Amino acid sequence: VTAPNDHEPTSDTSSSAPAPLGGSEQPLARAYDTALLDLDGVVYVGQHAVPHAATALRDATKTGMRLAYVTNNASRTPDTIAAHLVDIGMPATAEDVVTSAQAAARLLAERLPSGARVLYVGGAGLEAALIAAGLTPVRSADDEPAAVVQGYAPEVGWRELAEATYAVRAGLPYVATNMDMTIPTPRGIAPGNGTLVGVVRAATGVTPEVAGKPELPLHRETILRTGARRPLMVGDRLDTDIQCATRSGTDSLLVFTGVTDPAALLAAEPAHRPTYLAEDLRGLLVPHPRPEPEQGAPGVWRCGGWRASVAEGELVLDGDGDPYDALRALCALAWSRPEALSRPEPPQADKALARAGL
Ligand SMILES: [Mg+2]
Repeated sequence: VTAPNDHEPTSDTSSSAPAPLGGSEQPLARAYDTALLDLDGVVYVGQHAVPHAATALRDATKTGMRLAYVTNNASRTPDTIAAHLVDIGMPATAEDVVTSAQAAARLLAERLPSGARVLYVGGAGLEAALIAAGLTPVRSADDEPAAVVQGYAPEVGWRELAEATYAVRAGLPYVATNMDMTIPTPRGIAPGNGTLVGVVRAATGVTPEVAGKPELPLHRETILRTGARRPLMVGDRLDTDIQCATRSGTDSLLVFTGVTDPAALLAAEPAHRPTYLAEDLRGLLVPHPRPEPEQGAPGVWRCGGWRASVAEGELVLDGDGDPYDALRALCALAWSRPEALSRPEPPQADKALARAGL
């Protein structure tokens, strides 16, 4: 039986190549005890549930998997987020939601005396997290705060940024919930917390400590709250979700319902490579075949009914079957033999991906 965490490089791969994708003979919902679910691009997109997400998550819980909804967005409380999740059909309670505001509040509570005043820039989610952590949220640099914490909220404006600037310039510890430069809104891409932190950083020369993905405090917060022993990170972004998984030594599942497309995955640097991949959250409910090197044909990889090789610097795909098996074989090849490709970033993969129907 293949242990899900057991994905050492196979001996046929080129010498220093990192492990290709992992395999699991059990459905992931059975092999792992807790799914650490990113929200936007995984569970919902804007106000709408991702197709198949609600059914897949319910079925995963029936298999025994616990769900944690993990978000970098610090503006809303866990109650509000859980209510939204329930509205769109997801099985969720406030206890299942973990936010970067909670992680930031814990960072501060571990260093400050109980009841210490913290100047916060942000919304209800951050204020509630500070109170829950035994701290006293204040709004002015004149309120004698012991630290500054900054999170996104749509109402944040110059006055609050100025208060944070006064306090940070006075030398107080400075924590940011997250550094996402943009956030998706119904009208398009808008400035995220990282952009607003940039204002304070520019005015003070001070870079904050960060709680959210891809930094590790939010991951640690989630493990502490869920008691997960075999967690599986599930996300749509290579440079936050998957990088956080790599840094924390957690196995990960990449889904293609958000910002990453198959061509971007083929070009991913080692720290951005997931353990598993699937079209959407139904990938929690099935075993995952591991791509295997073809015996006697160095540099050729197989998965399911597919065979991936390189000809004249381009990825070539033959066979048929599940398109995501094709992608598994292509990833194993592109990641293990980048030197064989005429254009490794991104690889020449258009024809191969079209052949798989991706
Ligand atoms: Mg996402």
